[in-house]
Amino acid sequence: MSTPQNSLPDLQFNIVGLLKGQVGSTRSYEFYVPVSELDQLDEDFDATGPLTGAVRFFKTADTILARCHGEALVRLECSRCLEPFDLPVAFSFEEEYHPTIDITTGRKLPLTIDDAALLIDEHHILDLSEVIRQEILLALPITPICREDCAGLCPICGANRNLETCHCQDTASDPRWAALSALLDRQSDAS
Ligand SMILES: [Zn+2]
Ligand SMILES: [Zn+2]
Repeated sequence: MSTPQNSLPDLQFNIVGLLKGQVGSTRSYEFYVPVSELDQLDEDFDATGPLTGAVRFFKTADTILARCHGEALVRLECSRCLEPFDLPVAFSFEEEYHPTIDITTGRKLPLTIDDAALLIDEHHILDLSEVIRQEILLALPITPICREDCAGLCPICGANRNLETCHCQDTASDPRWAALSALLDRQSDAS
């Protein structure tokens, strides 16, 4: 079970009108979250561009179905050369959100799910923040690389081989160095 950590006002939608509407009614919105706000969503990622996207809500018999897509720019550290770089991150999802208040009687509804991220609050606010936070985290690569052909760091002198050519390869012709460098290469590949 997940608990929403931070809610971003730009990702909250008052859907009272939709809840009162007929099954099959829809509403569409675009959203824009500036970097300063997006940074507060999760301390595990460092946003360097705004979050932009769109969401469409559909009223079903008991829930609101949200179809959402968006993209952001996140700063990561290259696992090969250790330099920071900005990665565009895109996501799309479909989730059902559950009202907690009966829109006609105003009475509390029994909870049918235990995921707080998918509950519509008593003020009829549907908050996309938590699902979007999870989507962005899921979209981040486990071993980020700044570019496909990143040459990484020299395992011997630590020089960034994207920027400079060192001469360690020459030294590595000594078989003892070759064994060491192969070992270091294997370690840096595994990390
Ligand atoms: Zn790199
Ligand atoms: Zn070197």
